[in-house]
Amino acid sequence: MGTMIDVEALCLKKGLRITEQRRVIARVLGGVDDHPDVEALHRRVAAVDPRISIATVYRTVKLFEEAGIIERHEFQGGRSRYETVQEEHHDHLIDVETGAVIEFHDPELEDLQARIAARLGYALVDHRMELYGVARKPPE
Ligand SMILES: [Zn+2]
Repeated sequence: MGTMIDVEALCLKKGLRITEQRRVIARVLGGVDDHPDVEALHRRVAAVDPRISIATVYRTVKLFEEAGIIERHEFQGGRSRYETVQEEHHDHLIDVETGAVIEFHDPELEDLQARIAARLGYALVDHRMELYGVARKPPE
């Protein structure tokens, strides 16, 4: 998150055919700095080209996901949400009241997970960490 990703270039690299509509969707995805669901993506895509239907966004997102260009998250209590695949690993904290997704990276946590896996006789290859919380109100 944060840096612009050239989704179009990634598509070409993966051998995906780039149509005009896919290009628009790729550009929107490349500039995403949150974790939108398909509806939110469609709103942004339609602002660029109102002819692009939500069905097209669905299909394209699925295609990009299968190609490993974007990542799908199934956070609790919500629809699938997407972000471009990042080189740097991060985890998520989900605000259960607003649905806001906050990214974080914690070396201690990464370490701890690897140690737990090792203790159980495994080399850690991947993990998903999702924290769910409510914002703590500052004291009055
Ligand atoms: Zn993220």
